[in-house]
Amino acid sequence: MNLNDEFVIAPPSTPAVRVHGGGLFPVRRIFCIGKNYADHVKEMGGDAKSDAPVFFAKPADAVVVGDVVAFPQATDNLHYEGELVVALKSGGRDVDVARAAEMIFGYAAGCDLTRRDHQAAAKKAGGPWDTAKGFDQSAPIGEILRADEAGDMSAARLSTLVNDEQRQSAPLSTMIWSVPEIIIALSKLFALRPGDLIFTGTPAGVGALAQGDRVAIKIGDLPECRFSIGAHG
Ligand code: MN
Repeated sequence: MNLNDEFVIAPPSTPAVRVHGGGLFPVRRIFCIGKNYADHVKEMGGDAKSDAPVFFAKPADAVVVGDVVAFPQATDNLHYEGELVVALKSGGRDVDVARAAEMIFGYAAGCDLTRRDHQAAAKKAGGPWDTAKGFDQSAPIGEILRADEAGDMSAARLSTLVNDEQRQSAPLSTMIWSVPEIIIALSKLFALRPGDLIFTGTPAGVGALAQGDRVAIKIGDLPECRFSIGAHG
């Protein structure tokens, strides 16, 4: 590649998430873990613990920083999944537990929006999950709280409210794979890099969203992730 060549179309801007207190966190990739709370695995009809974590991804520009998510095209069954999101400030491959902790810039509350109808079809067909998980605006996320301000997240509780009614409520301590274990496992598959976000899975209580619904995801002292579902995009 000749680096003096000019781009033939305008290069896309860097997706970013707000940091509590000021500044923007540039998003490089979005990794997600599936089946990370036993009660959610059960409600989805699966077995309690699989041998290895299930990972999937969303494009970086799936992050939603605004407060309205257009109802996505091509689905009749849009689900919320309230999740703790980990933001990485440094990277690595095959990291150990001490290194995994050092890599964390901060934490946010986020929502792994899911086209559940596409996911069910993909599971049945043994096909990929991309259209179920990686669509436009599929990753609403609140402000990131820096790790030194957030403290020990493992003692926090996650709640998801839809139209002020509680739908999900679970301690983060009930995750099957802890945050350091998720980072360690991902680093055996990918060279993690600064700017990577990791959605850490959802507890039981997932459900469908309709146009006009208001979603709030609360995790300990993290800034809330709040958004509403707008008209069809
Ligand atoms: Mn999820």
